[in-house]
Amino acid sequence: MSTFDRAAWDARIEAKRALAAHFRELDAAVIAAKSRRPARRTRRVTAAEYAPPWSTGRIERKPVAERLRPCVGCGRMTRPSDMTLADAPGTICRMSADRCATCVRAARGPSTAAVVTRPCPSCGRPTRRSDQSVAQAPGTVVRRHGGMCDTCARRRQAEVRS
Ligand SMILES: [Zn+2]
Ligand SMILES: [Zn+2]
Repeated sequence: MSTFDRAAWDARIEAKRALAAHFRELDAAVIAAKSRRPARRTRRVTAAEYAPPWSTGRIERKPVAERLRPCVGCGRMTRPSDMTLADAPGTICRMSADRCATCVRAARGPSTAAVVTRPCPSCGRPTRRSDQSVAQAPGTVVRRHGGMCDTCARRRQAEVRS
């Protein structure tokens, strides 16, 4: 039998709220610094301030094992999207709260939106929406956010992480 620790839960929520407020402030400072006519008092936001919160100990990170859970659709073990395969070998990426991408897409059914292909700004290959299949748009690759193809988006992500 496990007992629910209300105080610990509240403290965790409070820490997350404080952190969200902190990042909102940083975002505002970045926008203010970029504006053509900066307000009188603007400050530079350092990369360290933008560091992931768990890396600075401002928020306690759950152990890896606690962040993994099986997909309710197919039962395969899933990891959160900010975790890599190297962090949790043998897992697949989780797309919604409790399902893998394959099961989320299966539940949604095929996309009925018109097929619009756009070239990847990095490599030039034609891309399609991620919810459309290669059968719907032959010769295309999946488009990730920023309009880049999956490969370029992953490479970019790896560069940002390192
Ligand atoms: Zn699944
Ligand atoms: Zn590309």
